[in-house]
Amino acid sequence: AGKIWDAIILGGGAAGLMAAITAAKRGKQVLVLDHSKKPAEKIRISGGGRCNFTNLDIKPKNYLSDNPRFCISALKRYTQNDFIKWVESHHIRYHEKTLGQLFCNDSAQQIIDMLLGELRAHGGELRLHSQIKQVLREGELYSVASSSGMELARAVVVATGGKSIPKMGATSFGYDLAKQFGINVLPTRAALVPFTFSEQQKLWSVPLSGVAVDAIVKIGKTVFREGLLFTHRGLSGPSILQISSYWQEGVPVTIDLAPDVNILEELKKAREEHPKQDISNALGHILPKKLAKAIAARDGLSGHMATQSDKILRKAEENIHRWQIVPMGTEGYRTAEVTIGGIDTKELSSKTMEANNVPGLYFIGEVVDVTGHLGGYNFQWAWSSGYAAGMAL
Ligand code: FAD
Repeated sequence: AGKIWDAIILGGGAAGLMAAITAAKRGKQVLVLDHSKKPAEKIRISGGGRCNFTNLDIKPKNYLSDNPRFCISALKRYTQNDFIKWVESHHIRYHEKTLGQLFCNDSAQQIIDMLLGELRAHGGELRLHSQIKQVLREGELYSVASSSGMELARAVVVATGGKSIPKMGATSFGYDLAKQFGINVLPTRAALVPFTFSEQQKLWSVPLSGVAVDAIVKIGKTVFREGLLFTHRGLSGPSILQISSYWQEGVPVTIDLAPDVNILEELKKAREEHPKQDISNALGHILPKKLAKAIAARDGLSGHMATQSDKILRKAEENIHRWQIVPMGTEGYRTAEVTIGGIDTKELSSKTMEANNVPGLYFIGEVVDVTGHLGGYNFQWAWSSGYAAGMAL
C-alpha cells in the first residue's frame, strides 16, 4: 500500500504554507500541492514587492463577511504579534509604513523563504506543477488526483485562494470543490479593486490621470480616509480600493477631495483679497491645479472672484466636499487584490476551519468568505486561518 498523508494541502500560497508548517511542526505528514511553478506568487508581488505581511492593529471590523464574528476565534489564537515574532526570529527587517501596516524593508521574497525554510525544516513536502484534478472521499480517506499523480490522505485542506489575478494562477477550484461536497458558496466579486468610468465620465477624468489627493471616501456609513488617484480608466488609490469592497453596481460613492479645508471660507477670503483672481485659480489653492481647472470647467465656474455669489461658492464647496460619483464598474478580477464572498462560514468551524458536515475537509485563507481591508489584513487572515487548521489536523 502507498503512503497515507495526514493531510494534503491544496494550494501553496500564504494560507496553505502556514497550515502545512503548523501541522508539520506537530509531527504530521503533510503534502502541499500547487499547480504553479513557484509557490506563494501573491506574496512575492504583494505590497509592491515588499509584502505588507500584517497590521499592528487587527480587529474584526477590518474584515468583511456574511458573519462578521467568524474570524474572531482564529485571529485571537494566532495574532499579528505571533507572526511579527516569527518574522523577527528570522531576522527579517521590517517597518511600519502607515496606519499600522508592516512591510519588509528589503523584499517579500524573505517571507516566502521563511515559509519554505520552515516547511522543509519540519519535513513538510511541497510539490509544484501539480494541477489538482479530482478530490474524492472514500470512507475515512481522501484521494487527490493531480497532474503529478494520485495521493491518499486523512484530511484535505483547501487553500486555493480567490479568483483575483487569474494570470498568476488563480482558479475557482476551491469554490467548485466546496459545491461538489454540498457546501454552500456565497456569491463572489472582485474587491480592493480600482473603479472604472464610462466614456462620458472619462472625457472629464482622463486628463487628470496621475493626479493624487488625500480624500475621504464614503458609501453609507462606511468611510475611509487615504490617498485617491485619478487613472486613465477611472479612480484608484488606497481609499478607492478600500471602499470598492463595499460597492455594488449602481451605488453612488461620495468623495471629499479636500478634507479639513473650509472651502467656503477660503473662497470668500479669496474674493475679498483677490477680487480679480479667476475662480479656477482660487480653487487651485485648495486642490491640485489640474484638478481645480477640471472641476471649474466641469461645473461651469468661471470669471473673477468678485463676480461670484455666495450661492456659487457654496455650490463649488459642495462639489468638492461631496462629489457624488457612480462608477461604471471595477477593473474586476484582473487587477483586484482579493475576492469577496466564497465558502459560507456557516459551513465551517470557526475554531478549526473544518467543514461541519464533511469531516476531514478544511477551508482556509481567501477562498473562505472572510475578506480583509487593505493593509496586511488579508495575509493575517491567511496566517490565522492556516494556523487554526494546522493545529486541528
Ligand atoms: P493564494 O496566496 O492566492 O494561494 C493560492 C494558491 O493556490 C496559489 O499558489 C495557486 O497557484 C494555487 N492554486 C489555485 N488553484 C489551484 C489548482 N486548481 N490546483 C493547484 N493549485 C492551485 N494582502 C495583504 O495582506 N497585504 C498585501 O500587501 C497584499 N498585497 C497584494 C497585492 C496583490 C497584487 C494581490 C493580488 C493581492 C495582495 N494581497 C495582499 C492579498 C493576498 O495576497 C491574499 O489575500 C492572500 O495571498 C491569500 O492567501 P491564500 O493562501 O488564501 O491564497
